[in-house]
Amino acid sequence: MGAFHCRRCGNCCRWPGAVRVSGEECDAIAAYLGMTVEDFIDRFTRITPDRQALSLTETGAGHCIFLDEDPPACRIDAVKPRQCRDFPEHWNFPGWRNECEGGREDRE
Ligand code: SF4
Ligand code: SF4
Repeated sequence: MGAFHCRRCGNCCRWPGAVRVSGEECDAIAAYLGMTVEDFIDRFTRITPDRQALSLTETGAGHCIFLDEDPPACRIDAVKPRQCRDFPEHWNFPGWRNECEGGREDRE
């Protein structure tokens, strides 16, 4: 298996699951957006179903709130959470290869 090559398709950001954010990540993202951390948490996070962490919120379609389309791009790329930076090699979800253009390529 060669080195993973992200094709920037944005599908991992469209996956309808939690995008966990730590306290430090909330501080960094809020500062990047020029907001107070309280406003950031109010507007852009929710509690995960297991109530153990905060997640970024989603659009009605289940996509991450910070995903731009045409072309797909992360609006907080410089400070995105570790879960995003770790995908797919250090963190992923069941069936990720079916969603990820780079994963499909890897499999061939
Ligand atoms: S924060 Fe950025 S990289 Fe992470 S899921 Fe959202 S759009 Fe994707
Ligand atoms: S799904 Fe895979 S190829 Fe597409 S943006 Fe995410 S990591 Fe990159």
